[in-house]
Amino acid sequence: MHEVDMTRCLLLSMNEWKQQHEPRIPRVSQVHLQVGSFTCVEPDQLVFTWRVAVQNTWLDGAELVIEPVPLVGRCVRCNATYSPDPEQAYRSPCCQQPMEEIVSGRELRIRSVDYAFSDHPADALPAATPA
Ligand SMILES: [Zn+2]
Repeated sequence: MHEVDMTRCLLLSMNEWKQQHEPRIPRVSQVHLQVGSFTCVEPDQLVFTWRVAVQNTWLDGAELVIEPVPLVGRCVRCNATYSPDPEQAYRSPCCQQPMEEIVSGRELRIRSVDYAFSDHPADALPAATPA
C-alpha cells in the first residue's frame, strides 16, 4: 500500500517535470531514485508498482533504478556517527544513546532522470495517472 502511494507521488513529480519541457515530450529511459533504508519502502515492490503504473503512459518503458541510502545516526552525546541497529533499538554503540538524530536514511527523492527528446512529438501518449 505504501509503495502504491509512493508510486503515485513519483508519477505526480514526473508529470510536473514533463510539463517543464512542453510541448516536447521527453523519452525517459531511467529514473534514479534515492531510497533511504529507514523509509520502510520495499525496493522490489516499488519497482513492481512503478512498472505497472507507467504502462501505456508517456513513461512506458522507463526503468526505476533504486539507489539505497544506508541509515546513519549521530550520537547526541559524543557527536559520532554510527549505523543504527534495530536489534540494539537503534542506540548508539558508543554511548548507548537513543537515536535522536538521523544523518541519512530517510531519503526518498528522484536524484536524476535519463532522457532524450523524441523526434516524433506527434506520438503523444496520455499522461501517467495513478493506478
Ligand atoms: Zn556516543
